[in-house]
Amino acid sequence: MQAVLFDLDGTLLNLDIGDFFPRYLDKLSRKLDHLMPREKFIDHLMLATRAMMENTEKDKTNQDVFMEVFFAPAELRVEEFYPLFEEFYDQDFPGLNNGYGPVPGAHEALRAARDKGLKLVLATNPLFPRTAILERMRWAGIEKYPFELITSYEHMHACKPNLEFFQEIISRLDLEPSRSLMVGNDPYEDMIAGKMGIKTFLAEDYLVQRKENLKPDFRGQLREAVALIESF
Ligand SMILES: [Mg+2]
Repeated sequence: MQAVLFDLDGTLLNLDIGDFFPRYLDKLSRKLDHLMPREKFIDHLMLATRAMMENTEKDKTNQDVFMEVFFAPAELRVEEFYPLFEEFYDQDFPGLNNGYGPVPGAHEALRAARDKGLKLVLATNPLFPRTAILERMRWAGIEKYPFELITSYEHMHACKPNLEFFQEIISRLDLEPSRSLMVGNDPYEDMIAGKMGIKTFLAEDYLVQRKENLKPDFRGQLREAVALIESF
């Protein structure tokens, strides 16, 4: 084995997206509500987010796509909004921590992979700036592990569940897909890595409910991934 790719939310961090996302939208939209009515802002933000999720253009980062779509309407001025986005992620985002912590087994799995000399990848969906990802990593206490790559919107050119997301990681770190393991809690968006030949472990502690499920190579509580990684 060469590498272990870990999803963050619901895999290493016990963050329930259903609890987190509405509070995130509320806090961000309040910060900008002098510039744009909150409902309109949320609709517009979601439009730009969907565009990022569909991005597979090799010469456009997810951030490029976000900026292009969000600031397409002439009345939305980058110089008004953008500093507030940055301020939000620096100053307000940390306040969204609702007592989150590591999923049991998160540290053990990371240590096992590190001690085996495997490359660590934080393969979170790259819809957020790096600051927001590092902050969530701090909530789980995992920022200290030697990740080779943390997928943030500044440098990635695709999102899960597009295979281009996984391809970009594989190419960048020069990995053999069959010698890499994706660990995630989403039976579709994470397990789709298997279609490229990446081995998959479905972490069931905070399993995402989906209509469409792909069959993982391995499944269980995250702490069961530790023995698997140690066996590589
Ligand atoms: Mg997840």
